[in-house]
Amino acid sequence: MTFLEVIIYIMKDKLKEIYSSENFKETGHELVELLAKYISDSEKQDIPVNNYMEPNEQLEYWRNYKLDDKNPITLFQDIIEKSIHIHNPKYIGHQVSAPAPLAALSNLFTALMNNSMAIYEMGPASTAIEKAVVEEISNKIGYGEKGDGYITSGGTLANLTALLAARAVIVKSDIWETGYNEKLAVMVSEEAHYCVDRACRIMGFGTDGIIKIPVGDKFTMKTELLGEYFAKAEKEEIRVIAVVGSAPSTSTGMHDDLEAIAEFCSEKKLWFHIDGAHGGGAIYSKKYKHLLKGIEKADSVVIDAHKMLMMPSLMTFLMFKNKMDSYATFSQKAQYLWESSDEEEWYNMAKRTFECTKQMMGVKFYTLLKVYGEEVFNQFVTNQYDLGQELARLAKMRNNIQLATEPESNIVCFRYFEPKFSNQELNQRNSYIRSKILRKGDFYIVQTLLNDLVYMRATIMNPLTTSLIFEELLDEVEKLGCEKTS
Ligand SMILES: *Cc1c(COP(=O)(O)O)cnc(C)c1O
Repeated sequence: MTFLEVIIYIMKDKLKEIYSSENFKETGHELVELLAKYISDSEKQDIPVNNYMEPNEQLEYWRNYKLDDKNPITLFQDIIEKSIHIHNPKYIGHQVSAPAPLAALSNLFTALMNNSMAIYEMGPASTAIEKAVVEEISNKIGYGEKGDGYITSGGTLANLTALLAARAVIVKSDIWETGYNEKLAVMVSEEAHYCVDRACRIMGFGTDGIIKIPVGDKFTMKTELLGEYFAKAEKEEIRVIAVVGSAPSTSTGMHDDLEAIAEFCSEKKLWFHIDGAHGGGAIYSKKYKHLLKGIEKADSVVIDAHKMLMMPSLMTFLMFKNKMDSYATFSQKAQYLWESSDEEEWYNMAKRTFECTKQMMGVKFYTLLKVYGEEVFNQFVTNQYDLGQELARLAKMRNNIQLATEPESNIVCFRYFEPKFSNQELNQRNSYIRSKILRKGDFYIVQTLLNDLVYMRATIMNPLTTSLIFEELLDEVEKLGCEKTS
């Protein structure tokens, strides 16, 4: 053999090793052992929620990292240590789910199968499974058979896509071919997720194109102001195409009055979009679905399954009241992908999605549905929202804790409070408390600014979080609140 042939031979050997089913089996078993221990340690709180490191320190660590034993399990173990542990019931911070282990396993399964989903041939089973799952969601929303939709990669992308559809449907001229020179706008509560603002700017609407409606003392849109803001926009020759309702808004977990928005949109012939990224999953909750009253009137709805439906990231439903609207967004010809550019072809997903290649996301949801039934989603959402009420109840019993508002969901905002301190002093103290908690690592909560006041924000994502944990957290907040901050 020549030198070159030897090199090629060795490389091929490496490839054989990488693709060997025996290696997969061995490492796979070890990985499952490691993750089972992670779940168990987290649930028993034997490991902290996180081992906080400053960003640059973390970067140095991984830049200089040497995997001496070349064992991926060693690497995974190290990553666990330096990660946030969402399965620890003291994780009550951002709206990221503690994924159901079975859903995570089906993610592993689909990662290996890797059917690409853009067209039917490249994901026959998963394409049909997605359609079946989407039909279930359509029924739950109350759209029934007329509705349709698909699964896409995250709420941010789904909100953008919904607003692109709104633009295509409401503005009758052929934007896709000719562009547009009208000034267009979307109306949304000032408490909405920033991605709605970003979507409008991506579409070229500019600052004038995002009309923020003030909120009342419950942090929800003052829908009685819609008419006034609409008239003002008309006068400035800005054409409003849609109103976005938050269900709920991210900071406070409070729901806009969807019925009122629906009525306004129907009167003015506007697109009604619901950003239900966080709380859309409540369509499954017998006890809390009333929070989504009017959802079936929305032209489009976004629901993140990786928030309140126990799925690992990412997995988002983008649903449309009228099936044909879901085909209106993109009208591109890609003859090498689909059979005819003018037909619906539900089975050729890329006709409707922003993505071309996309993950087999429907499979993880379908797996839970088939194994446990939809009742599990009712239980999950109901349990988490009940826990939100419980945290609020316990907080109200404390002299030095103040709620931002009575919560409606599993998002609860509260702050340390003493009447003798100014709001400025209180803001400092609350930021101090939250920063101490982050660095200590026993709990994870976040903070938010409401009417210029710093609040701590807890989102109860783990079904194993208990009242006892809330009591411990509130004790800690009160204790740190008394400490001198400077
Ligand atoms: C989380 C959230 C989003 C963003 O969704 P991603 O899946 O994180 O992209 C949008 N809107 C609301 C109301 C949210 O809570």
